[in-house]
Amino acid sequence: MNYDVIIVGAGPGGIFSAYELMEKKPELKVAVFEAGHALEKRKCPIDGDKIKSCISCKSCSIMSGFGGAGAFSDGKYNITNDFGGTLYEYIGKKQAMDLMHYVDEINMNHGGEGTKLYTTAGSKFKKECIQNDLHLLDASVRHLGTDVNYIVLGNLYNELKDKVEFFFDTPVEAIAVIEDGYAVKCADGEYTCDKLIVSVGRVGSKWMENICNDLEIPTKSNRVDIGVRVELPAEVFSHLTDELYESKIVYRTEKYEDKVRTFCMNPKGAVVNENTNGIITVNGHSYEDPALQTENTNFALLVSKKFTAPFKDSNGYGESIARLSNMLGGGVIVQRFGDLIRGQRSTPKRIEEAFITPTLNATPGDLSLVLPKRILDGIVEMIYALDKVAPGTANDDTLLYGVEVKFYNMEVEVDENLESPYKGMYIIGDGSGITHSLSHASASGVYVARNILESL
Ligand SMILES: Cc1cc2nc3c(=O)[nH]c(=O)nc-3n(C[C@H](O)[C@H](O)[C@H](O)COP(=O)(O)OP(=O)(O)OC[C@H]3O[C@@H](n4cnc5c(N)ncnc54)[C@H](O)[C@@H]3O)c2cc1C
Repeated sequence: MNYDVIIVGAGPGGIFSAYELMEKKPELKVAVFEAGHALEKRKCPIDGDKIKSCISCKSCSIMSGFGGAGAFSDGKYNITNDFGGTLYEYIGKKQAMDLMHYVDEINMNHGGEGTKLYTTAGSKFKKECIQNDLHLLDASVRHLGTDVNYIVLGNLYNELKDKVEFFFDTPVEAIAVIEDGYAVKCADGEYTCDKLIVSVGRVGSKWMENICNDLEIPTKSNRVDIGVRVELPAEVFSHLTDELYESKIVYRTEKYEDKVRTFCMNPKGAVVNENTNGIITVNGHSYEDPALQTENTNFALLVSKKFTAPFKDSNGYGESIARLSNMLGGGVIVQRFGDLIRGQRSTPKRIEEAFITPTLNATPGDLSLVLPKRILDGIVEMIYALDKVAPGTANDDTLLYGVEVKFYNMEVEVDENLESPYKGMYIIGDGSGITHSLSHASASGVYVARNILESL
């Protein structure tokens, strides 16, 4: 065998697997294969000047490379079993929490020290939310911020690079089961290992599906979350964000009894484009450094959709809706809430005259031509509900960017060790469909590394 362990994907899942293996057994021969670039080479070409929108690079620097999809994210590590994935269903609630705290400690020892850990415990907003039929979920959240998150990743890489062999710009094309191990096939050849950790994230969803088909690993369809990103003056949510940083609030609509939730809140942050397999959707982030902060807060409002037979391509459904916004707006569409309610499109003039400056250069348009009625009705209802705990949310000038889609990978069949039906082949992180967050993906990485160490 070339290696004791091969890790496919250098996102948080892969990084924390490699870290734990090296920390506990540095003599192991470990290789990491990553389709994207090394951290310092990751640079999105959009500069807002010469290149204003996505040019669909072969490897998207926002989604791929050392640090994975999280490298330029807000670096919010939510320590909770209430959202961010269902890792606890496989490894138990206590162990999942312990591992998330362990990951937090590692981040603190690699440049994250001094960042704040927010918590909903004892918050007066819980009561205020319930009184308005809104439900605040329990969590502690470590906000590293885009800047500190990048520093932590750099420090982790520096510690790993002499112990682990990294192959960047090297997508794994296929996996073959060989005697006593696995072979990963890349454009330049084949590499073998005893144990294989597959951690390919959301960007590797189609690849993962093909591997599961080839190896006959059972999968289950997952949900898709569809909605908009809301941007408003930071003052509107400051009483919540100053204390909690991020509040995950869930609301059940009166009209359809659908659940709508806030997601990925970025106080004084910026709205950004996201490219998933060539489809442009919207996301957001914010910096810890006050010099880089904006005057706006943004967060997503999402409605979950899970389909029943005969339809099971929930990601395909989300993609079609995102494609529609790309078709009408050439990318992301932005609309004032007041325009949406009056049934008129936003125009460049109306956006310019608004009392808020958008942080993303999106195309003014009409989201009601893009989002299905049921989803849009839910979002409008939720905006009015939030207006009760954060007055100003339903102002005319509140900006809605669409569409935001959270794609989830097919849930891959793994056991309580996160081991596939093939012994020694582990499938972790967002690529497994089990996790959807930095903290859960990282925790799953540590978990399988420990499992491998025990089995050696
Ligand atoms: C803009 C943005 C902001 C976010 N903000 C937050 C946040 O604040 N908090 C939070 O909890 N979550 C956030 N997320 C989600 C978070 O980034 C992911 O949940 C997390 O990165 C998942 O980690 P992972 O290791 O499973 O996968 P990923 O981070 O997606 O990493 C997978 C890696 O595998 C590589 N890969 C894929 N296929 C192959 C292949 N065939 N061969 C080799 N390599 C391959 C990819 O290039 C990628 O680098 C954000 C995501 C985005 C896009």
